[in-house]
Amino acid sequence: MTVSSFHPPQRILMGPGPSDVHPRVLQALGRPIIGHLDPEFVMMMDEMKGLLHYAFQTTNQLTLPVSAPGSAGMEACFVNLIEPGDSVIVCVNGVFGMRMVENVERSGATPITVEDDWGKPIDLNKLEDALKANPGVKAVAFVHAETSTGVQSDAAAIAKLARDHDALSIMDCVTSLVGTPVLIDEWGIDAAYSGTQKCLSCVPGISPITFSERAVERIRGRNSKVQSWFLDMNLIMGYWGAGGGGARSYHHTAPINSLYALHESLVMLKEEGIENSWKRHKLMHNALKAGLEALGLSLMVEEKYRLPQLNTVTVPEGVDEAEVRRRMLADYGIEIGAGLGALAGKVWRIGLMGQSSNASHVTLSLAALEGILKDLNAPIANGDACGAAQKVLLG
Ligand SMILES: *Cc1c(COP(=O)(O)O)cnc(C)c1O
Repeated sequence: MTVSSFHPPQRILMGPGPSDVHPRVLQALGRPIIGHLDPEFVMMMDEMKGLLHYAFQTTNQLTLPVSAPGSAGMEACFVNLIEPGDSVIVCVNGVFGMRMVENVERSGATPITVEDDWGKPIDLNKLEDALKANPGVKAVAFVHAETSTGVQSDAAAIAKLARDHDALSIMDCVTSLVGTPVLIDEWGIDAAYSGTQKCLSCVPGISPITFSERAVERIRGRNSKVQSWFLDMNLIMGYWGAGGGGARSYHHTAPINSLYALHESLVMLKEEGIENSWKRHKLMHNALKAGLEALGLSLMVEEKYRLPQLNTVTVPEGVDEAEVRRRMLADYGIEIGAGLGALAGKVWRIGLMGQSSNASHVTLSLAALEGILKDLNAPIANGDACGAAQKVLLG
């Protein structure tokens, strides 16, 4: 067997993640490797912590990049904050909420689910009822931005309800971070995790997480050992120096070059300004929406709950949604996402995350979608999609 180097094609990533990665970030990956306890590396990590504080809008001491993807950040929150025998309320309105339920069960705790339809935000009244009916729950877990549906829930209100009932709040902000406001301190969130490959536009495989003082107390005061050795924050605090004291002891080898990449993407965020990043995501979403509407296509989610960075488009009657995605990729190199679970076959998910949230991607994807749908004789309107998008872009 002969083997040769792998050269992936150039794609335009407009799915639910990964998103496009800027050349500056890719170049950072190729910089010389140094030891993960090298003083230069430690300096870079200290700087990264400040940048993560900025991204999360927090001053939480325990803020660091977990050396594994967003799913590991999710698991880190549950295994550290939850002990066997605890009860945890989990709000479920899509795929990722269901995964949280799994995490609670595997932590030996009892999940109490508050369920809402896919495509709807978390109902605050139902949550409040569940909190009243279940005194003593240890935490309320929820997904801020459900990537499976394109819905954003009211994180500030959920965190407040949790606090009022003496429960910690655990928030998934994998898709929301940097794309829409995530205000950890202002909202009083106790634990949050994200991922690098969505709006941070970095390579996948790292999960930034942050824990409030209340959460750290909970971790330090556990009766039982964290069942995951790798994700045990008591051990990781010693590695990242997050527990104070400065000295760093070996726990695992950090993904050194991937962390260079994350550092670079955070530097780029700082250069742009986080408010400008939020604005850009909103503008691109509005432009895409105008173009889709010109074609007679509609977004599934009610306007006030829509995520700008993840657009769930209803597939028109009689259209083979998989064929459209296949041709977007084959003919234009554009990746868009399929519907998951209950929404499979019914929607496309068009991501406008991070570097993928730009005017070229919006107009090109609209032109491609229009061309393909017309070629398939789909029942769409004869509007000027790119013109409508441009009108929004020009203000
Ligand atoms: C992508 C995603 C995850 C999982 O992240 P991975 O990096 O794929 O493990 C978790 N939650 C949400 C809301 C996501 O969109």
